[in-house]
Amino acid sequence: MIQKKYMILGAGPSGLTLAHSLIEAGIAREEIVVLEKEAISGGLCRSEEVDGAPLDIGGGHFLDLRRKEVLDFIFRFMPRDEWALFDRVSKIRLRGMEVDHPLEANLWQFPVEVQADYLESIAQAGCVRGEPMPESFAAWIEWKLGQRIAQEYMLPYNRKIWSMHPDALGTYWLYKLPDVSFRETLLSCLEGKPMGALPAHGTFLYPKEFGYGEVWRRMGVALGDSLVTGCALQSVDLENRVVNGRWKAETIVSSVPWTCWLEAAKLPQAVVDDVRTLRNAPIDVDYVPDTLDSPSHWTYEPDESVPYHRALLRSNFAKNAKGYWTETNATRSKPTDGVRFHNEYAYPINTLGKPEAVARILQWAKTCGIVGIGRWGRWEHMNSDVAVAEALQVARDLTGQGARA
Ligand SMILES: Cc1cc2nc3c(=O)[nH]c(=O)nc-3n(C[C@H](O)[C@H](O)[C@H](O)COP(=O)(O)OP(=O)(O)OC[C@H]3O[C@@H](n4cnc5c(N)ncnc54)[C@H](O)[C@@H]3O)c2cc1C
Repeated sequence: MIQKKYMILGAGPSGLTLAHSLIEAGIAREEIVVLEKEAISGGLCRSEEVDGAPLDIGGGHFLDLRRKEVLDFIFRFMPRDEWALFDRVSKIRLRGMEVDHPLEANLWQFPVEVQADYLESIAQAGCVRGEPMPESFAAWIEWKLGQRIAQEYMLPYNRKIWSMHPDALGTYWLYKLPDVSFRETLLSCLEGKPMGALPAHGTFLYPKEFGYGEVWRRMGVALGDSLVTGCALQSVDLENRVVNGRWKAETIVSSVPWTCWLEAAKLPQAVVDDVRTLRNAPIDVDYVPDTLDSPSHWTYEPDESVPYHRALLRSNFAKNAKGYWTETNATRSKPTDGVRFHNEYAYPINTLGKPEAVARILQWAKTCGIVGIGRWGRWEHMNSDVAVAEALQVARDLTGQGARA
């Protein structure tokens, strides 16, 4: 039996950040083990070389610049001068055109007739008419943007990405979406320029020479033999905190999906019931060698006759790259002879009742000396910068170093 102070399950951004932060806080590296099922670290943020250039195998990944603490941490492994800075160009394909995202801030880019159609839609929306906000996501879409925009854009796009009817999704996460008021939309049409809050990644960083995965690969290498790859969670003895019959720890930190715990441990029935309510959307990432004639870094595709929901034009952000890759909910993918990467756990789905179920799971875990972190430990649609920020805070909490400075 190998005894450790901390055992971290999963070497994605969350697990890697936590391991390094614990070491930084004075925990000896030998006191930490990170168990990872894949051959390299990085999780959804891994990259591979395809057709002579990097391809991010978990989908398009860009580093947001908003959190200084996160950037300081990441630049320790890949200094700032190894990153290129971009002003985000993201497009939506609608009515045979490409306009900038978010739609409500960029209706002015359509011909006047189309602007009128979509303005009419928003003018008739429930939020403009003072109706109370509904609780399901599908109803919220119509309430926010009106019937026409819901039917042409938001409902089909969301059916594609989640592989679930938007009726089954809650609205508690919508603060993450760009919020543009009707007044701002009107003004943007009149003045012919975008208005309102811009979405995440207004500017972003991407490695100059590599894919996004390089920084997480380096973090894994820097852990030396504290990182054990090719080691999937198989069994957990909850009482003794022993994993796979081999590693024992005072604290287990899990960044792997809770659904993996169903097979591995004898969970109380109430926890099993909660875990079984959690839903994830799988995605396939497919490489296409043709280079598209568009300035876009990524483009949203709501048309349901096209399987993918987003195209990533790597020729516009990765060095010496041609072609693009697409992200398709795996339940909609067609068989291919091309290069494809499958990600079973890509998006945690924000189903109704999820926050309460996750809170109960985490509460139970705490009583067993287990902490859940990251995209799957919290079952939250968090970006990698948020995952890093959370792991930095968890390290402070675990080592008693208190609140953020
Ligand atoms: C399509 C897409 C686009 C995205 N775009 C961006 C973006 O532009 N910018 C951004 O910052 N973020 C983006 N993200 C989010 C980003 O991928 C996550 O925030 C980040 O990967 C979360 O890190 P994590 O460590 O919590 O989870 P993960 O990266 O999922 O890591 C979990 C780790 O656990 C391992 N694991 C799983 N099961 C087991 C098991 N049974 N045993 C052992 N190990 C296991 C996995 O192999 C993985 O290494 C995107 C995500 C997707 C899906």
